Amino acid sequence: MSPPLDVAAVDDLILFPRAIAFSEATALEPLPNLSEDCNGTKLFIKRDDCNSLAFGGNKVRQLEYYFGDAIAQGADTVLITGAVQSNFARITAGFAAKLGMQCHIQLESRVDTSSDSYHSSGNVLLDRLFGAQLHYFPEGENEDGADAKLEEMADALRLQGRKPYVIHLGLGHKPYGALGYVRGAAEIVRQLRKQDLQIDEIFVASGSGSTHAGLLFGLRMFGCDSKVTGVCVRRKKELQIDRIRAHCIGLVSMLNFDPDLKFDDFRVTDEVLRPGYGQANSQVWEAMLCAARREGLVLDPTYSGKTMAAFLSQARQSPANSNLLFIHTGGTPGIFAYQDQLEKYLS
Ligand SMILES: *Cc1c(COP(=O)(O)O)cnc(C)c1O
Repeated sequence: MSPPLDVAAVDDLILFPRAIAFSEATALEPLPNLSEDCNGTKLFIKRDDCNSLAFGGNKVRQLEYYFGDAIAQGADTVLITGAVQSNFARITAGFAAKLGMQCHIQLESRVDTSSDSYHSSGNVLLDRLFGAQLHYFPEGENEDGADAKLEEMADALRLQGRKPYVIHLGLGHKPYGALGYVRGAAEIVRQLRKQDLQIDEIFVASGSGSTHAGLLFGLRMFGCDSKVTGVCVRRKKELQIDRIRAHCIGLVSMLNFDPDLKFDDFRVTDEVLRPGYGQANSQVWEAMLCAARREGLVLDPTYSGKTMAAFLSQARQSPANSNLLFIHTGGTPGIFAYQDQLEKYLS
């Protein structure tokens, strides 16, 4: 175990190149109206949906390190795979455009829906706006297969004289995305100290697990012991815990620092996962409506809406005087892809 480090030194501790997408911290602020319903529990939000690039979201911080690595390797083209409504793919396309790089996106059939808006609006529309080239992968639960297909595409691009860089989704690669949230954790620790605020529990969406793992690792690295609860959006609890652990092990060797995470540090809930990835139940739609109508917040049904549902459910049963923090990971353009389903809750 290594002793906690000085938060001000974060950029000297992460010795990997970073392509800077935004320079200011995102807001960490109270949710006064939602807090009113919670018997003295105070709710706060970290606005990582507002980090400026390509509609923003958690992937901006992650991609700063992927693009840093890509540039260091002399790449002129990036390849990424994801669901049809992938926010990661959309922000990659925007980031690539800003850096003058080509972008290839492989869309996987992860969500079983025939909805037109799902296949053409929201993030897909933005991918095309940013000039990315779209490809299709007929499976939805084959991460290694999807990555292998990207490698094949990269080989073909190399033969054409391009310098491709693959952003892998499967485990077994360096967790560059998680590094972005080690840095994000430093920002949060700094803000909490400045606001003289102690947070009991933080809620964050847990998909690939990069955000969750980086945040947990970073908070402990900088001496903050708030609980971090990952809200499963794709896999059951047990599988997700293994994934978070794997990313944290990767971070120990990348950062040459061991925060000595304990069994109890790895907290996840899959209570709002049903019916599955990219599909929301009524509790999620209701949480989205509640956040929109009480705080003017836009959440999506795949990630941030699910996380809000778990967050509000915990907030209503927390002891008085506890402080809870919601990490808004973005995904906001996704709501346009789900217009048909949202419609039912609006009438
Ligand atoms: C990708 C994504 C997540 C999940 O983040 P991971 O780092 O993949 O776990 C959460 N929210 C939004 C909006 C996302 O796009």
